[in-house]
Parts: sequence; C-alpha cells; structure tokens
Amino acid sequence: MKGQEREKKGRFVYTRRVQKENVRRMLIASVCFFILFFVNSLVLQIQTAGTIKPYIMAPFMVLAELYAGVYILRSYRWLSSRKKWDMRLQLYLFWLIFATLMLTATFMSERTFFKLSVYWIMTTVLAVVPLWNNKEFLVSQGIQIAALLFLIFYQKLGIENVIYLSANQLMCCVISRQGYYNFLQRAADATAIDTAKTLSETDPMTNLLNRRGLERSLERVWTGCVRNNRMVAVIMIDIDNFKKYNDHFGHLEGDTCIRRVTAEIHKMTGKKSDLAARVGGEEFVVCLPGMEKGEALNWAIKLKENVESLNIPQAEENFLPFVSVSVGVVCGYARRSADFEQMRKKADEALYEAKESGRACVYMDGECHARTRVAGNIRQYYMERGFRSLG
Ligand code: GH3
Ligand code: MG
Ligand code: MG
Repeated sequence: MKGQEREKKGRFVYTRRVQKENVRRMLIASVCFFILFFVNSLVLQIQTAGTIKPYIMAPFMVLAELYAGVYILRSYRWLSSRKKWDMRLQLYLFWLIFATLMLTATFMSERTFFKLSVYWIMTTVLAVVPLWNNKEFLVSQGIQIAALLFLIFYQKLGIENVIYLSANQLMCCVISRQGYYNFLQRAADATAIDTAKTLSETDPMTNLLNRRGLERSLERVWTGCVRNNRMVAVIMIDIDNFKKYNDHFGHLEGDTCIRRVTAEIHKMTGKKSDLAARVGGEEFVVCLPGMEKGEALNWAIKLKENVESLNIPQAEENFLPFVSVSVGVVCGYARRSADFEQMRKKADEALYEAKESGRACVYMDGECHARTRVAGNIRQYYMERGFRSLG
C-alpha cells in the first residue's frame, strides 16, 4: 500500500514536472512565434510581390500575433504564480492552433519548396518542443500523418517528396519519444537527488533540521537577513529534567515525548524563512528572521506554555507534574555570516541561566520571564489527574 502511494506520488511529481517544463517551453515557443510572425509580416509588407497574397495574410498575421500574445501572458502567469492550475487543455490548444496556422500557411503557398519547408518546420517543432506522453504522442502523430496524406494527394507530390516527407515524419517520431524519455529520466534523477538531500539534512525522528540542514539553510536565510538588515531571534530550547523522564517512563516514551514537543515547535515555525533544528537529544535551536525583541519573547513564552498545556506527565520526583521546557532567547541584527554562531552562544548562555534559575522559564537579556510553578501539593495534583506515574 505504501509502495503504491509512493509510486502514485512519484508519477504525480513527473506529470507536474512535465507540465511545468511544457508551460516553460510553450512560453519560449510563443515568444518565438510572436517575433517570427512579426518579422514575416514586415517582410511581406516590403515584398508584396511574393508568393503569398498579402490581403489574406494581413488578418492571418494579426490573429497569429494575438494568439502568441495570449499564450505568452498565460504561460508567464502560470510560471510566476504560486498556485498552479491545470494547463493541459491550453497546451493542447496551443499546439493545435500552431499546427492549424502552419498548415494554413502551407496550403496558401503556391510553391512546393515553400509548402515543404513550412511543413518540415511544423513537424520538427512539434517533435522537439512539447513533451508528449504516449497517448498525446499518438494523437499528435495521427493528425500530422492525416495532414501529410492530404498534402501528398491534394498537391499531387512526386515520389521523391513523399519519401522525403515520410522519412522526416519517422525521424520526428524518434526524436519526440527520445526527448520525452530523456526528460523523464532527468526528472527521476533530480527527484532522487532532492530526496537524498532532504534526508541528509533532516532529523528522522522529529522531521526538524539536523545540524547539517541548519548550516545549509542558514546560508540562504542568514545571507538574506544580512542583505536586508533584518532583526533575527535565535532561541534555544531544552526539555527540563528529561533524564528523569527517561528513567521513569523508558526510552520509547521519551521518544514520543520529544516528538510531541517538536510538534509544537513545528506549529510555530510555519514561515518559509523560519528555521528549527534538533541539535542535541532534547535540545532545539530556532532561528526566526524579522522578529523584534518583544515578539521573540512572546514567541518563546507561548511555546513554553503550549508545551506545558500538552500536560505530558513527568516523573513524580520532578519539580513539576508535567513536562516543561527552558528557553534562552537572543535578538539582534544579522550582520556577517559569523554572527549566527555568536548569537547562538548567547542563547545557549541564556538557556543555561534559565536552568540555573530553576527551569520552566524563558531567559532574555539576563531577565527571567514566565516561570511556572505549581501551587500546593504536587502529589495531590497527580492524584487528581490520575497520572500513571503514581502507579
Ligand atoms: P536539564 O533540565 O538540565 O536539561 O536536565 P536533563 O535531564 O534534561 O539533562 P540533559 O538535557 O543533559 O539530558 C538529556 C537526556 O536526554 C539524556 C538522554 O538520556 C536523553 N535523550 C537524549 N536523546 C534522546 C532520545 O533521542 N530519546 C530519548 N528517549 N532520550 C534521549
Ligand atoms: Mg534537558
Ligand atoms: Mg539537553
């Protein structure tokens, strides 16, 4: 079942990649057609004694320019927008209109040389530019062969031209298939590299970044912050008395606890530029670009409260009946690439102070904030909630 899902996902990635590539190619092709038809109409203006009747060509050229213009806009918008709607129908329409325009141009001409040249250009472009899957390839070939037969019989082409056109059609088939499968192979390789890269930069237990992932992502994020002179918050988080938790509930429960705490970190680091990494067993570092001091402190307090409100029971000899975290916060302007390490060191010192001052609190600029203590009898607290640590 999992394998099937992966295969389906893989296929989705391919079709998505194929579609993106096709829209990109459509954009380039429409720009080329726009220029080509424009130059062509200029040449016709100058050389009206040509083989093509100018009064027929004028609306034809205007239509062609309009058509290319519409597709330039459509594909450009698709490529630059975040939301990607399905463009398959528009792709088919694009190539269908392209083929119709080219065929019209072919049949308008009275010279065999011109006819064959335009037909040859059309088949070559249709073979090299769009990526057809098997079904689309068959349909496209069917239309082209029908047009070819029509051209041969209608224009009464000689055997030499028939051989020449058939050989061209055959060659185009091979090029089209080879191009499609080469692209799929390249896409599969790129996906494999992406997956390996993500795996090597992610902590498998929590899905947060690991040290390497943090370093790599920092190259991108920190450089952006330095360039834009942005404030950055660097926050260190550590679960309190986790050794006690492990000793009391066992390592497996300990892992579950780490996952539940990291889920809260995930929830609060949703922006693309936010970075969260697991840098020790139950120690995490978070880098939040664009945060002022007050916001950073509020963020840390909220995370601490969210973890506490998970109400994960701690070992009974702990100072709190539930799992808590200590947090060290540092906020400042990102300057050079070395600054992150300096800020991280300071955040580590703030975390150390938070631990020293009794845990379950946030430390920033030498001040302790939002310390949690349970009033009254902890044993009573356990009894009321029926925590299993009481046996
Ligand atoms: P403090 O409040 O000072 O942080 O006390 P602590 O007991 O949490 O001390 P420390 O942070 O040094 O302890 C980390 C413990 O976390 C040690 C180890 O047993 C446990 N640990 C580290 N990694 C894992 C892990 O992946 N799974 C589990 N279950 N436990 C882990
Ligand atoms: Mg700890
Ligand atoms: Mg620790």
